[in-house]
Amino acid sequence: MARTFDLSPEEKIDWLRTLPFWIVHLLPLAAIYTGHGHWSAWVVMVVLYYARVFFITGGYHRYFSHRSYQMGRVMQFLMALGGTTSFQRGVLWWAAHHRHHHKYSDQPEDVHSPKRGFLWSHMQWFLCKVHFDTRWELIPDFKDNPELKWLNKHEFVPGTLLATAVFFMGYGISGTWLGAAGYCIIGFWLSTILLWHGTFTVNSLAHVFGSRRFATRDTSRNNLLIALLTGGEGWHNNHHHYQASCRQGFYWYEVDMTYYILLAFSKLGLVRNLRQPPERVLNKHLIKKGAADLGMFHAQWERATKALSTMQFKTAEQKKALEDLLASTRAKIDEIARMSHEKAEELLHQQEAEAAS
Ligand SMILES: [Zn+2]
Ligand SMILES: [Zn+2]
Repeated sequence: MARTFDLSPEEKIDWLRTLPFWIVHLLPLAAIYTGHGHWSAWVVMVVLYYARVFFITGGYHRYFSHRSYQMGRVMQFLMALGGTTSFQRGVLWWAAHHRHHHKYSDQPEDVHSPKRGFLWSHMQWFLCKVHFDTRWELIPDFKDNPELKWLNKHEFVPGTLLATAVFFMGYGISGTWLGAAGYCIIGFWLSTILLWHGTFTVNSLAHVFGSRRFATRDTSRNNLLIALLTGGEGWHNNHHHYQASCRQGFYWYEVDMTYYILLAFSKLGLVRNLRQPPERVLNKHLIKKGAADLGMFHAQWERATKALSTMQFKTAEQKKALEDLLASTRAKIDEIARMSHEKAEELLHQQEAEAAS
């Protein structure tokens, strides 16, 4: 069912300012006319996709947003530079907004709360005025670094240079300007569009589809497909459970390409102190071991109570029926929680008595 949300004027899409974003989406259509220049444009597309997935995931996300490992100033700049070529706005803008997401995940303040619908959490949130500016108060650790501030401000420069390089590479290979244009559209722009939506999917679908291992206070999920497409970001429930960890796949079978690359970098001395999830964290708040999944409970309960206050009921009986259902569910939940508590206490006493005798 389509859901509509009340948007303030500041939250409506700013079509004029976001025009380049929409034009880029139409660019691949031009390849019908230009062609792809040369088959190797498709190789460039895949390489640029995964290379920049790494810079966004390993740089923008795991380093600048979460400080989950350390590196020197030159390396830090290079990671930021690589991420900026993906046209996902400035590194400090990105990291500050992401910190805000973790601080308020799934609450009304959350910048891309999945509760406001797929489109909002996927991309509408950054296409509106209210989220255009960098939240400097959330990024005090980097806000005085001149080279990062420069990159943050001139966010279009690195991507434009890379696109130009791909264009001339296309000219060198195809020998025609039309071929160069096609090469650039496929190699650079199609790769950029796919990278955008891969990244946005972590904010939208990784809060909707997948399984939950930890009872976090949000609706984050673990999803293998998203992890494969985003260099390990699909282990989003793990990540919300323990954001400080450099690795997001907590077990060997949870594929996390970004972590493997960072591990190789650490062996080469390029980065250091990759933070791991401690054993006590891996065993905490496990749903399998009975932790109450309050994140999902809140999300579902909120939806049900919201329906009660916003739905148009045809008859008073209909409204009464829903009210009664919610009240009886509430009472049952209280009852079950009380019973579980009593049972646990009883077993504990039994054990203590056995140990004492
Ligand atoms: Zn995060
Ligand atoms: Zn999230």
